Amino acid sequence: MARLLPRVKDMTNKYALPDLRYDYSALEPYVSGHIMELHHDKHHAGYVKGANDALEQLDEARMKDDFTRLAALERALAFNLSGHILHSLFWQNLAPKGAARPEGPLSEAIVEYFRSFDVFKRQLTQAASTIMGSGWAALIWEPVGRRLLTTQIYDHQSNLAQAGIPLMVLDAWEHAYYLQYENRKAEFFEAAWNVWNWRDISDRFAAARLVSIALVDARR
Ligand code: FE
Repeated sequence: MARLLPRVKDMTNKYALPDLRYDYSALEPYVSGHIMELHHDKHHAGYVKGANDALEQLDEARMKDDFTRLAALERALAFNLSGHILHSLFWQNLAPKGAARPEGPLSEAIVEYFRSFDVFKRQLTQAASTIMGSGWAALIWEPVGRRLLTTQIYDHQSNLAQAGIPLMVLDAWEHAYYLQYENRKAEFFEAAWNVWNWRDISDRFAAARLVSIALVDARR
């Protein structure tokens, strides 16, 4: 992608909280500024810190040659790093006054893999609505079968097919909507369709299709 991306790592290679490209209130009335501020400044920042802390503790464990806590540290790293990546994606996937639908190759691929945009919208919304506990719904590019899929992601990291590349993610954790929508989460998932940044999602689709994990010939 040629455009300048917000910084998700700093100069010392630590993970860093990226700036939002729009004001906290820019997605109103669909997502309140209060939610955006807490979600970005507190929740997302917490995952950035958690990922850096886990890396630091792994470094310490290597220094001391003491791997007794390795399993817990690996789990903490997967959870927090995935939280950082998914939130960084989510902020870029959203935009004030987003277009109603994608255009071009993404639009054509959605019809190819989901039959129609409306079926895709219902499938992704259903994936978000039926998460048990905390998680995400995502549109992913699966580079082995070379197809678009929707998936549920439990917490931040479980249930995603290996090598699947998230293109479009919808946060279904209560912190994403509860202050505004309370228990009416279906209203939040519906409102999100007013603020998708289809340009961003289309660019991600174009980039993902070029990825090869060398299990299949990407030219076919
Ligand atoms: Fe979140």
